[in-house]
Amino acid sequence: MSLLPIEEAFRIIAETTPLLPVEQVPPREALGRVLAEPVVAPIDLPPFENSAVDGYAVRSRDLTALPTHASETGPTVRLRVRGEVPAGGAPTGSITSGETARVMTGGRIPAGADAVVMREDVEEAPDVARVRRAVEPGANVRPRGEEIRGGEVALEAGRRVNPGGLGFLLALGVERVAVRRRPRVAILATGNELVAEGAPLRPGAVRDSSTPTLATLVESAGAVAVPLPIAPDDRALLAERVREGLSHDVLVTTGGVSVGDYDFVKEVLAEQGVKIRFWKVAMKPGKPFVYGIRGDTRAFGLPGNPGSSLATFERFVRPALRKMAGDPSWAPAEAEAVLDARCGNAGDRTWFLRAALSWRDGALHARPLAGQGSGTLRSAGEANGFIVLPPGAINREAGARVTVQILPAIYGEVWNSPFVMKGDAR
Ligand code: AMP
Ligand code: MG
Repeated sequence: MSLLPIEEAFRIIAETTPLLPVEQVPPREALGRVLAEPVVAPIDLPPFENSAVDGYAVRSRDLTALPTHASETGPTVRLRVRGEVPAGGAPTGSITSGETARVMTGGRIPAGADAVVMREDVEEAPDVARVRRAVEPGANVRPRGEEIRGGEVALEAGRRVNPGGLGFLLALGVERVAVRRRPRVAILATGNELVAEGAPLRPGAVRDSSTPTLATLVESAGAVAVPLPIAPDDRALLAERVREGLSHDVLVTTGGVSVGDYDFVKEVLAEQGVKIRFWKVAMKPGKPFVYGIRGDTRAFGLPGNPGSSLATFERFVRPALRKMAGDPSWAPAEAEAVLDARCGNAGDRTWFLRAALSWRDGALHARPLAGQGSGTLRSAGEANGFIVLPPGAINREAGARVTVQILPAIYGEVWNSPFVMKGDAR
């Protein structure tokens, strides 16, 4: 079987990724998730006319004799202060000509008033306010429904609820929003040599770093991770675990998909009714990667090498999880960056070089990290992106423009740039 180009693999996954069913949840539980239906405002916001500043509620007509810019020495208009409206308080009565009421930011505008003069433009004395400037009708007043009217769409379907959006929903008093169910993702590491996190290392064994790492990545994609116990390289036991894993929305396995004598994953998946859509992609790291379908369940057989499972997760699995959850921007985030050091790809697979991405001098920069072995993770601890080098990109000098895949914030935000501060980049 020849190697499938990554674009082709991606297309097949995208085309076969189902949308999960919609559920209604409180806004807080929707944080970070994508709205499946538009949210309609149940009320006007603000719900009542109120002051945008601390000042004096006035009838703008009373001040027409004043200049529009206040001056210390200019004329003033003397108004009688008819009480005070703090935020949350009730106006004491209506304002008539020659009257004003002290009003605080967020306080209701008393009847009769049509504008608010900022406190800074008033000389205050007990019961009297000397106003120094004129105001337009409506000045410093936040009309009812200015932000949104009840019945209008507050947030569109397809929008990810971010902290600002959550605050908006809570301000509106929205109780339930429609989001897609979080994908449930079984994680199954395979290999006789693996020992679980926390267990002692026997001779010849390696620690299973992939299960906890992938669980974290799954959770960071807004999905629910269901780590399964490690499966040994034994057909019958593997079949049992795979069967269990396939009862979830997604099964992610690691290891056992290459051409070794004990690489049973692909066959076991097929035995369990998974229709294999492809095996082996033109990607480095990550060649032995298998993708299959059974009913509504999707199976991703990731390579065992930890660097490979991480790269294939980010290229294929995370986008699929986002798509399942209804995110319209589910494709990997790619951008153009300036190379900080030379690199090249003489091979026939697209190379995903772990890189430290940072903003510098107004441009996104990518520094290829030392140690790119697919069996290693050391440099992955410094990487917040990949330089994506297609086959034939032989010599890319420092300063050249390259395509990068920006990894999600959990890897280290690009703007945070902790990597270049060590001084080894320039
Ligand atoms: P495999 O794809 O099963 O041939 O495994 C390739 C390499 O990755 C071997 O050196 C394995 O020991 C290693 N490996 C496989 N699974 C894991 C894992 N979960 N954690 C750490 N290393 C692993
Ligand atoms: Mg193995």
